[in-house]
Amino acid sequence: MRAVETKVLQDKFGRDIHDLRISVTDRCNFSCVYCKSADPKNYVPHRDLLTWDEYLRVARVLAGQGIRKVRVTGGEPLLRDGVVEFIQNLHQIGRIDDVAITTNGYLLPEMARDLAAAGSPRVTVSLDSTDPAKFARITRTPRSFEKVMAGIDSALAAGLKPVKVNIVLVRGFNDDEIVEFARLGRQRDIVVRFIEFMPLDADHAWNRNLVVTAKEVVDTIHPVYPLEEIPRNSLSETALRYRFSDGQGEIGIIAPVSIPFCGQCSRLRLTADGKIRTCLFSLHEHDVRHLVRNGATDTDLADFFTKVVHQKELGHRIDEPDFVQPKRTMVYIGG
Ligand code: SAM
Repeated sequence: MRAVETKVLQDKFGRDIHDLRISVTDRCNFSCVYCKSADPKNYVPHRDLLTWDEYLRVARVLAGQGIRKVRVTGGEPLLRDGVVEFIQNLHQIGRIDDVAITTNGYLLPEMARDLAAAGSPRVTVSLDSTDPAKFARITRTPRSFEKVMAGIDSALAAGLKPVKVNIVLVRGFNDDEIVEFARLGRQRDIVVRFIEFMPLDADHAWNRNLVVTAKEVVDTIHPVYPLEEIPRNSLSETALRYRFSDGQGEIGIIAPVSIPFCGQCSRLRLTADGKIRTCLFSLHEHDVRHLVRNGATDTDLADFFTKVVHQKELGHRIDEPDFVQPKRTMVYIGG
């Protein structure tokens, strides 16, 4: 079917929208302590998850409206059968020039080569500790560290470059490992990225004291491995970039709490059950599944996306006194 051509999506604050995150499942094979998924009673019934064809149709219409980057996430995206073909099909849309997958890495040893054959998406692996016993406690999954490290190695061996490793830092939990993570990045051909903990946790235990800020990360690494800030690849890139002064790679820091980047936000999110979210912290979702399953044409969908983008929030409002945490956690929104 012909892709619908309309004006490139822009919100009412003048931000161009060219980045889409698609959550392809709310299921996860880890049960991380701060996320608490992997409990079947929390899962959306299968019939309510979009089918691959439905995700693809949404992506194709949005590609006609200027979406150029797609991130495939979840839940754990590698758990859903057909994800490799989906990535291949995203590439075949033609206009999407950057496809990436965010994964916990557990299934990468079995799947990295197939992913490379499907169009070599960029891969980001989440890893919240360098200590095997601690990581098993965080993920509540035995031998998770060994499997994830093997997954990172498989991704590198399959030629999936760059491989990035995301670490959510929580004070008193893994902030004693910052230098160890920097060392891990230097030893392997990977970019480690430190992420500030956000109020999207299942227990609503988040508070500002738990956030390890970008400045603290730099101040901790710099005396051991001197760092120099380098420009972002693009204005809307979420990560601040620093290179090691001795040339042995770089790190990223994603600091939505201490250095919000909402002014440059170019993102939309599609949840596994077919809701569009215009911000991680949106309190309102826009139901595209209903449209897709009730005869909407591609033009109807494009009009819908134009209207939805117009409602994109100015910013996340974490700092406001009346901030309200969204009901869904990252595993359901799509991290
Ligand atoms: N299963 C995939 C993975 O592990 O990367 C994708 C989904 S997971 C929800 C995406 C990322 O969100 C992970 O890196 C996870 O650590 C992060 N995350 C979950 N809750 C978070 C929070 N409250 N603040 C910051 N990051 C969070």
